[in-house]
Amino acid sequence: MQSVTLARRSEASCHDCDLPAHGECPAVAHVPVAPRRHRSTRPLAINNSLVHGICNCNCRLCAVNKASYSGPQEYQPLEVTQALIRRVIEAAQQGLRIRYIGNAGDGEPTLHPDFIGRMRLFGDMIRTWDDRQVPAPEVAVITNGGRLHRPGILEAIADNGLTLIISFPSIDPEAYGHAMMGDGARGEALLKQVLPAITAAMTAAAKGSLRRLQFHISPPERDLIRATFDRTVEYLSSTAARVGLDHLELIMFPATANRSGLIRNVHTGVDFYRDLFRRHNRRLHHGVRVDMKLSFQRFFPKMREFRDLLRHYAYPCVWNGQFFFTADGTSICCNDQAVRMPLGNLRDTDLSQLLAIKEDFLPAVTCKGCDQAPQRMQGGRLLALFRFLAGRKLRRSLREQGRTEP
Ligand code: SF4
Ligand code: SF4
Repeated sequence: MQSVTLARRSEASCHDCDLPAHGECPAVAHVPVAPRRHRSTRPLAINNSLVHGICNCNCRLCAVNKASYSGPQEYQPLEVTQALIRRVIEAAQQGLRIRYIGNAGDGEPTLHPDFIGRMRLFGDMIRTWDDRQVPAPEVAVITNGGRLHRPGILEAIADNGLTLIISFPSIDPEAYGHAMMGDGARGEALLKQVLPAITAAMTAAAKGSLRRLQFHISPPERDLIRATFDRTVEYLSSTAARVGLDHLELIMFPATANRSGLIRNVHTGVDFYRDLFRRHNRRLHHGVRVDMKLSFQRFFPKMREFRDLLRHYAYPCVWNGQFFFTADGTSICCNDQAVRMPLGNLRDTDLSQLLAIKEDFLPAVTCKGCDQAPQRMQGGRLLALFRFLAGRKLRRSLREQGRTEP
């Protein structure tokens, strides 16, 4: 079983100091003031923290609910959700395609007091989308599943044509409890709530009333996942067969985010789970086809999209290469759970300019404690090539700005 330790809070965090405004903080001095238009041409994904810093779980690899967590704790106000949708439509009209919006991120989205109303807003966006310019984004809800059985939650996702993604690291009660609560003894009670909701979601998907159902084999507790994966696939496929669902989509997470440096874990490299893919991917279990994918394939489905990242980003970090919005609309890197490096806000800046800020971004305070910096990534020849190219690009960007160190 892997061990996890909590890192100390940084003195530079916006949430640890008494300064009245971000503008006076040296930790965020890197944010460009007058952004240009973006250069990147690949379609993008958005992670929207409908709920930030509030969760009914306490996953070991997440900073939320830990004593070290210093980020915001809030529900997304209505005007931010509305502004996000307006920005996505505006971006499409400008030729910037958002292909995926995941309501997830740094809190449990189904805890939002107006969850059903917000799902309706996304459903309205899809229903009224003018796709003459670009196709409508796929909109998803990523949930730990603990509230899926509550009245109206599954229906709100299904009725609005959204994708449901359930984080499900293991069918083993002890492993599940460890991963989701840091306490193996709580797994059985948790699974009693989650498993009937999974059956209900599979039934809805089999009947065609739920657009799409996926499982994130996550949080990426590698040892727990590996030790129980065969049983997890067996459980999910036999349940799917029982309710008439003919396929399963499983998303694997090769790397572990360390969440603003607040969480550290012993596995800092990348595990592509090649043996698990060999055993289960594209195979039939109980007559149910199992399709497995790696999480980054959602964000970079084609190799040429990595080329776009290396070409247009001063610091080509995979995890800063998409949009991540906090509940108040602040643009962050996906690993910046404590919001130490705000990169603009969608309420007053359009997506093209926010993307340009990301393209110009150079390593800052959170990157110092980050085990997913491109120049530190470990795990095979392809990653070695990416590490080399990203490191070369970063050195050139730093030279151009007269800086010597990340
Ligand atoms: S990873 Fe997700 S489900 Fe787990 S504690 Fe963090 S926000 Fe909650
Ligand atoms: S290196 Fe920096 S930009 Fe990249 S994931 Fe880590 S904190 Fe985010």
